[in-house]
Amino acid sequence: MTARIIDGKATAADLRAAVAVEARRIAAAHGLVPGLAVVLVGDNAASKAYVGSKSRAVVEAGMRPFDFHLPVATSANELLGLIGELNNDAAVHGILVQLPLPSQIDAARIITNIDPAKDVDGFHPLNAGRLASGLPALAPCTPVGCIKLAKAVHGSLSGLDAVVIGRSNIVGKPLAQLLLGENATVTIAHSRTRDLAGLCARADLLFAAIGRPEFIRGGWIRPGATVIDVGINRVAGDGGKSRIVGDVCFAEAVAVAGAITPVPGGVGPMTIACLLVNTLRAACMQAGLPVPEI
Ligand code: NDP
Repeated sequence: MTARIIDGKATAADLRAAVAVEARRIAAAHGLVPGLAVVLVGDNAASKAYVGSKSRAVVEAGMRPFDFHLPVATSANELLGLIGELNNDAAVHGILVQLPLPSQIDAARIITNIDPAKDVDGFHPLNAGRLASGLPALAPCTPVGCIKLAKAVHGSLSGLDAVVIGRSNIVGKPLAQLLLGENATVTIAHSRTRDLAGLCARADLLFAAIGRPEFIRGGWIRPGATVIDVGINRVAGDGGKSRIVGDVCFAEAVAVAGAITPVPGGVGPMTIACLLVNTLRAACMQAGLPVPEI
């Protein structure tokens, strides 16, 4: 058996196009142009690349980008000053502070100072609490993207056995909450979990968010299962070049799974598309307009 390859690029392109249509409609009907502020501190090369793609995607979706690039020596108070200004700026509907931050800045303190209504990353404890309570919330973009990809395969996730490997606040925990919201039966695994292979073998839906290259082996996967690989790991490739691999050993898993996301081209493109969805939702909520179902 060879698994169906879940095309995250194509799904993300469809989502971005749908957001652009809604953004144009809202601009024409209400004069509302959603604005996203992206704040980068320092010169981390990967962060710079992410921020560049986010800003391009914002413009393509008909939204307004506000880009801030602060020096690496920026103090926590200086960054909090900017966050305060953005919280009070009516043209800014979403605020994203690119992580990781330089070591002198406590990321948790910055996140808790973002207006929860503008927290398009969904990392503010108020949004995390709302998500855990089953209330409407701005949910983190990567887990939302994972759910959309799983639903592209299954339609409904109700009653399916889902195993999430990883319990970070950014991916694993919110993903588990979203899966509960979809009526899946959820198990969360982490570095202290016993018999991870046995656990994976029970999963209809297997989500890997570990940060270890090709850690999940094909033999662990239940035949026919859907595998969503969140991992992004840079490893040595041929000819001294590096390449990106996921947390799942794709070459083995593709022969066992029913459907699988590739890395790259799976979950990654969905994250930016879901950021656009959150920005649109945040703008509508702030303007008192109905939130589009995308
Ligand atoms: P974290 O390092 O914050 O969390 C990793 C999780 O994996 C932890 O819960 C850890 O357990 C668990 N873990 C580590 N080793 C093992 C092991 N041997 N067995 C079982 N569980 C283990 O990572 P993130 O959640 O931030 O990211 C995970 C991956 O997803 C990374 O590769 C990251 O680059 C990628 N990522 C991709 C995104 C995208 O857009 N595609 C966005 C965000 C992340 P414990 O808690 O016990 O330490």
